[in-house]
Formats: sequence, structure tokens, C-alpha cells
Amino acid sequence: MAFTTKKQFIAGVTCPKCALMDKIQAFTEDGVNYRECVSCGFKDEMRLSSTPRELETRVNTDEEEIANQTQTVRLVDPQG
Ligand SMILES: [Zn+2]
Repeated sequence: MAFTTKKQFIAGVTCPKCALMDKIQAFTEDGVNYRECVSCGFKDEMRLSSTPRELETRVNTDEEEIANQTQTVRLVDPQG
């Protein structure tokens, strides 16, 4: 998710300074996302904390557990 260099309003966002809604514009400047209030001039750097999660694809390898363990049981005669 990256904002374009063109300023665009963010709907439903209130300004943390003047508490006015729908006054925040988001734009990108030198690769950094900023938010700016058109009402009071508040400007802040937006740090996107929500990074897209990479889907963990686990490829099941051919793990065949071959349990061919033959156990020979000897019956030991206790008589000696
Ligand atoms: Zn403001």
C-alpha cells in the first residue's frame, strides 16, 4: 500500500490536533507517507504498521515414514 504523490483525503479520519474530521490529506513525499490537515496545518509522518502478511506456503515433501521394524521375540525358557 503506497500513497501517490497526489494528495488525497482520507475519509473518516479525524485530525489529532484540531479534531476535525475529513480534513486529513495523505500524500507521499520522498518515499515517506505523510498526513496533513488542511484545517490547522498539522503534518505528521505516517508509519504504516500493518505490513502485508506473506502467506506461508508449506510444501509437503514426500516424507514417507516407513516403519518396517520387525521385532523378533524370543521366548526364553527359564528352565536351565
Ligand atoms: Zn487539524
